[in-house]
Amino acid sequence: MTLQRTQDILADLIAFETVSADSNLQIISYLRDRLQALGARCIETRDDTGTKANVFASIGPDIPGGILLSGHTDVVPVADQNWTSDPFLMTEKDGRLYGRGTCDMKGFIAAALALAETLDARKLTQPLHFAFTYDEETGCLGAQNMVNDLSERGIVPDIAIIGEPTEMCLIEGHKGCYEYTTRFVGLEGHSSAPDDGVNAAEYAARYVGKLLELRQILKSRAPTSSPFEPPWTTINVGFFNSGVAHNVIASKADVGWEMRPVQASDADFVKQTLSDYVTQGLLPEMQAVHSEASITQDITAEVAGLEPMEENAARKLVAELTGANGTGVVSFATEAGLFQQLGTHAIVCGPGSITQAHKADEYVEIEQLDLCCRMLDRLGQRLTS
Ligand SMILES: [Zn+2]
Repeated sequence: MTLQRTQDILADLIAFETVSADSNLQIISYLRDRLQALGARCIETRDDTGTKANVFASIGPDIPGGILLSGHTDVVPVADQNWTSDPFLMTEKDGRLYGRGTCDMKGFIAAALALAETLDARKLTQPLHFAFTYDEETGCLGAQNMVNDLSERGIVPDIAIIGEPTEMCLIEGHKGCYEYTTRFVGLEGHSSAPDDGVNAAEYAARYVGKLLELRQILKSRAPTSSPFEPPWTTINVGFFNSGVAHNVIASKADVGWEMRPVQASDADFVKQTLSDYVTQGLLPEMQAVHSEASITQDITAEVAGLEPMEENAARKLVAELTGANGTGVVSFATEAGLFQQLGTHAIVCGPGSITQAHKADEYVEIEQLDLCCRMLDRLGQRLTS
C-alpha cells in the first residue's frame, strides 16, 4: 500500500522542475500542504532571494527529540543530457522508474510523505520530523540555513535519516567539502621597480605555498582508524588566475582551492592557520607599501563532513529496521554532516544507487523503493507501538 502511494507521490514530485538554479517554491508548498493536512507543525525558511525554501515539519507529540527524515528537493540540470524520455514525466519501464530526481532523491521524499499519510499521528510516542531542503546540489545551502534556524529554536532531533541513494546500505561517514576563492589585491606598477608596487601574484603564490605545507601536515593528523581513502584531510588548488603582462606588476590574483576534511578539527586548524598567516604575515607586508591592499575570501561551500561515531543511535536504529549488518563511508558529501553538527545522530540510507544519479535516464528500481517503504513502515510501527 505504501509502495503504490509512494509511486504516485513520486510522479507528482518529478513533475516539479526543481533544477537547483530555479525556484523550488511549488514543490515546497505541495509538500507543506500535504503535511499540514495531517496536522503537521511546519517551519519554512527561505534564501535571501525568497525564491528557494525549506520546510521542516513535525507530526506527533510536541516534545524534544524524535526522528527526522531528510531529503533535498533540488535536482541537477538536464541540459546537454540525452534523455530517452521526458525527464520531468516519470516513466515506468522494466521495474524501473525513470525521471530526473527519481534516485537523487525524490524517491526517498515520496516514501517519507507516504509514511506520514499512512501513520496514525495521534498514536506517535515521539515526534516524527521531515526536513525538505533547497540547494543541496550547489553546496547544501538550504540545509545550512535550516540547521541554523533549528539551532536558534533549540530543536534537535535525536536521530536523522538522510535518504541519499545508498542502495539502502548504511553510510556513517563522508568527508566534508569546503571550497574557497581567496582574492589578493595589490598595487600595479612597472616591472622594473618591484618595490614600488604590491605584486598580488607573488603574495598569492606564497599563500599557495602555505596551502601545500598544510597539506603535508594534515597527513600526520589523520585519525588512526580513519575509514576514508586517502585517510587524511586533503587540499587541492583548483585555479590560480593572475597578471596581464611580463612587464607589469600583477595587481590582482585569485586562488580557488578546496579542502575535504575527515574531521571538523582539521577544518578549524586549516582556517585558523591561514587566518593567522594572512593577518600577521602577508597582509601587513602588503599594506606597508600600499594601505589599500587586501586579501579577501569568498566561501563557495562549507559542507560539514559526517564523522563516523563510536556510538551512533541512528546507525543502531536503521540497522535494526533494515537488517543490514556493516556500514560504510562514501566519497560524496551530503546534508548529514550538518545535522550531526546540530547534535543529531545521523546516518545516510536511501533507495537507488548514486551511479544512477546525475545522468541522463536517471532511474530508481521499484524494488529499491519497496525496500525503503518497508524500512519506513517498520519505523512507523515502532513509533506507534
Ligand atoms: Zn542528492
